[in-house]
Amino acid sequence: MTTPIRRQYLEIKRRYPHAIVFFRLGDFYETFDEDANVCARELDITLTSNPMGKNLRVPLAGIPYHALEGYLAKLVAKGYKVAIAEQIGDPAKAKGLVEREVVRVVTPGTVLESGLLDEQANNYLAAVVPPVPRGRQTAAPWPDPEASAGLAYVDVSTGEFVALEVPAGRVVSELDQLRAAEAVLPEGMEPPPGIGCHVSAFDPYWFNQQVADEELRRHFGVASLEAFGLRGWPLAVAAAGAALAYVREHQQSCLSYLRGLTAGRPEGVMGLDASTLRHLEVFEAGRDRKREGSLLATLDFTQTAMGARLLLRRLGQPLLDPGEIDRRLDQVERFVQSGLLRAQTQGLLKQVPDVERLVGRIGSGMTGPRDLVSLRRGLETIPQLRRALEGAGDAALAAVLERLHPCEDAVAAIAQAIADDPPATLDAGGAIRAGFSEELDALRLITRDVRRFLAELETGERERTGIKSLKIGYNRVFGYYIELSKANAALAPEHYERRQTLVNAERYVTPQLRDYESQILNARERAEELESDIFRQVCAQATGQAQAILETAGAVAELDVAAALAEAASHYGYCRPFVDESDAIIISDGRHPMVERALDDGVFVPNDAELSASGAQIVVLTGPNMAGKSTYLRQVAVIALMAQCGCFVPAREARIGLVDRIFTRIGAHDDLSSGQSTFMVEMLETANILHNATERSLVILDEIGRGTSTYDGMAIARAVVEHLHNMPAAQPRTLFATHYHELTSLAESLPRVRNATVAVAEEGGKIVFLHRIVPGGADRSYGVHVAELAGLPKGVVRRAREVLAALERNGARHRGGEPPPLDELPLFAAAPSPVIEELASIDPNAMTPLEALTKLYELHRKAREAGP
Ligand code: ATP
Repeated sequence: MTTPIRRQYLEIKRRYPHAIVFFRLGDFYETFDEDANVCARELDITLTSNPMGKNLRVPLAGIPYHALEGYLAKLVAKGYKVAIAEQIGDPAKAKGLVEREVVRVVTPGTVLESGLLDEQANNYLAAVVPPVPRGRQTAAPWPDPEASAGLAYVDVSTGEFVALEVPAGRVVSELDQLRAAEAVLPEGMEPPPGIGCHVSAFDPYWFNQQVADEELRRHFGVASLEAFGLRGWPLAVAAAGAALAYVREHQQSCLSYLRGLTAGRPEGVMGLDASTLRHLEVFEAGRDRKREGSLLATLDFTQTAMGARLLLRRLGQPLLDPGEIDRRLDQVERFVQSGLLRAQTQGLLKQVPDVERLVGRIGSGMTGPRDLVSLRRGLETIPQLRRALEGAGDAALAAVLERLHPCEDAVAAIAQAIADDPPATLDAGGAIRAGFSEELDALRLITRDVRRFLAELETGERERTGIKSLKIGYNRVFGYYIELSKANAALAPEHYERRQTLVNAERYVTPQLRDYESQILNARERAEELESDIFRQVCAQATGQAQAILETAGAVAELDVAAALAEAASHYGYCRPFVDESDAIIISDGRHPMVERALDDGVFVPNDAELSASGAQIVVLTGPNMAGKSTYLRQVAVIALMAQCGCFVPAREARIGLVDRIFTRIGAHDDLSSGQSTFMVEMLETANILHNATERSLVILDEIGRGTSTYDGMAIARAVVEHLHNMPAAQPRTLFATHYHELTSLAESLPRVRNATVAVAEEGGKIVFLHRIVPGGADRSYGVHVAELAGLPKGVVRRAREVLAALERNGARHRGGEPPPLDELPLFAAAPSPVIEELASIDPNAMTPLEALTKLYELHRKAREAGP
């Protein structure tokens, strides 16, 4: 036999088998059975057991209701879904079992709690519709990278909702570029290989095009989806429908906030996969992948959360439309030209709170009075912002200006009804401004007068009874009472009714007190009701203008990003790039935006770059270790990326012929989790580049072939360069850094290959890296020099020099061919050690034991001196 509450729990759990159910019991959210085991383990909370019927005890783990957010954050970050079952209605009034219902299911992509969201980043839920398999229905959909897939993404905290179609091979990089939190796929469908976010399976029914179409039309109240620009994109429609259905099932409250659907850019955005984003350190830098030191952190001079999120989105999605890029650059330029306008604008922006998410929270009911005041204050700065920009009278900013709406109705509604400094929650009372509602004011007067009334009553009763120690008090169970000490109890007048007996005192009520109590309680209850009604009305009035507020939020974000990029440009000395449809990349005095900041001012050496599909298509860069090859390669890619985001760039001049995708193969990193060797990862990445690069791509190859033997590595490196040069359909612009100096000979046979190297000066036997890229090939790698700088033991460095000298001598003999195998080298090179020579000259038989021991000590000393 189970208890009724157990049955209620099991019924809820049956409906949410894939989620951890947080079951509200009084002041706790309890979890049971396997959920309790998981929570105890993941949240480090105590696991107990609870009687749930005759002979039935089940595992139980609970958390206090007020600590919900912190625990939710932990579970959701680990990819769990949490279904929150609340008590419905007032438990005090319920007859029998309190009704409970799941009010929302929190998943990584549907989080709304402000404490769980990063205010500087969007939190996207994506729905993915795999390509329709050609031929047999059972064929796996992912192997064909060219087939179209549907993709929709939604941020329930801001209301942004976008649908598009992309080649299947691009789905994972699109998700990486969006930094999606969760991807929803039809149940039973394999996720695309390499997917980096949480994957959730969802009923395939919702991915059906017809169903999705209806679902979307019903939600948006439109007869056709044409207005959204989704004609001819059936898979995008299917994905959007599935995303909407998923939100409805999990986070019903924010559905009303999804007011529009946008078609993604038909021409797409620059392709950047996860490894390229990582190698170029766009969002995170260093081994521990911190925001600090990344491109994003370098450029982030934004003042608002909305601006910070837009900057992040833009860096992940560089444009392919030169007109649109120019429009953005015009805005930045305007703020570069006028430091005053920039300072004024940024000063005002600083006062604007996250109105985009505030509207979402207000609309979903997960809000308090302070959110409304915040929204009001934010909107109140809009007229000032408009004035500042109108004064500038600038064409570049005119379009933004048009989208800045003061939203007076929302401001007035909030200002009239809500107090300036309200409490955090509505229950505390006092959120509604005095003077707004006569009824509320009257009720408040009654409750406020309690103290005075009670004090008067107390004095009156003391006088009447002559008991000086008589007190009036209140407790939650018995309400108001008159308290007399035991000693005085006998003096209690007759109309005192005994209510409670304590050790030293008796408590009474009188009809007058009872009457007063009910008046107060009614007044309080009515005041609470009234406050909550008014509050809801004001929320509705504010969200009635949601469309205008969101448009304003978008314009604020755009201004913020333009001003921030201008600030970065002025601060670091960036120039306006020129982006066109040509096939060239020409950079004068380019710098790496992050490396230059890590060095002292003026230390970074700027470098030019010139690449073009029809001319210098491939640059083979040789040069010493640590000379700056990788820095150079990355700086060219980062400058192209920045330019296409509409951002000024670290260079004296830059002209970028549109880049459709940046491919990078940089350094060796082990992919231990997938069980693939370093070399295998390197080859997989290289294969991906060779298959997918187009004539518009920019390919950055750093040290390919390094992960295997010299001969294999060099052979592969050479073949890759030849292939990139001779690809029939495309000549991707390529920068290729290598240690194999032999590859410089390729420039003689392949017309579009150029050699470059990093200049080195030798001063007094010391080598100085000049970090300057110059035409030509390197003849030495100075690896031993770097080894010495790194502090390898002296003996090892000396021995390496010997081996190198011998290799070079033999290399001269082997000229025209490959370097000599190591076993051709003499074991002990050139000058034999003096210790060995001396040892060889000794005649041990002619020595006394003492002489032998003395010699041994001497040789040992010499060997130590010469050794490491
Ligand atoms: P390896 O071949 O060993 O990978 P590398 O040639 O790729 O080395 P980088 O890693 O690019 O060398 O640069 C090494 C260091 O040299 C950088 O961390 C930076 O401090 C400095 N450096 C690189 N480029 C420049 C530059 N243009 N001006 C000044 N310093 C630079």
